[in-house]
Amino acid sequence: MKLYMCKYCGTIVEKSSSPSTSGCSAAGHSSHSWSKLTSDGSLSAVSGYKAYGCRYCGKIIYSKSTPSTSGCPAHSSHSWSSLCSKTSSSAKTYQCKYCGGTVQCESTPSTSGCPAHSSHSWSRL
Ligand SMILES: [Zn+2]
Ligand SMILES: [Zn+2]
Ligand SMILES: [Zn+2]
Repeated sequence: MKLYMCKYCGTIVEKSSSPSTSGCSAAGHSSHSWSKLTSDGSLSAVSGYKAYGCRYCGKIIYSKSTPSTSGCPAHSSHSWSSLCSKTSSSAKTYQCKYCGGTVQCESTPSTSGCPAHSSHSWSRL
């Protein structure tokens, strides 16, 4: 499924076509501005996908290939780090003690690209 993200409010939507622009919750914006992050992505862990995290907005998504850099709500463009190359719906869940982000990986995720610190510090939940 495709993933779209609003560059104003940071909402991510999993949808086959561009979502409606109405109902943005960001201050000063009444409509969403969607950017397509990936054509083969998911908000939950899917076998065969990789986990990516943006070092600016902190969002973590699952995608077959590196997501698009356009439309980051925290910076001019996303900077995606590959957190793990193997995931599945039964993979272990890890949480970073600095940014609070959670990710499902088969093994300990990469420490690069933490939005709150120089590197992620993952604990298994
Ligand atoms: Zn929005
Ligand atoms: Zn970002
Ligand atoms: Zn972190």
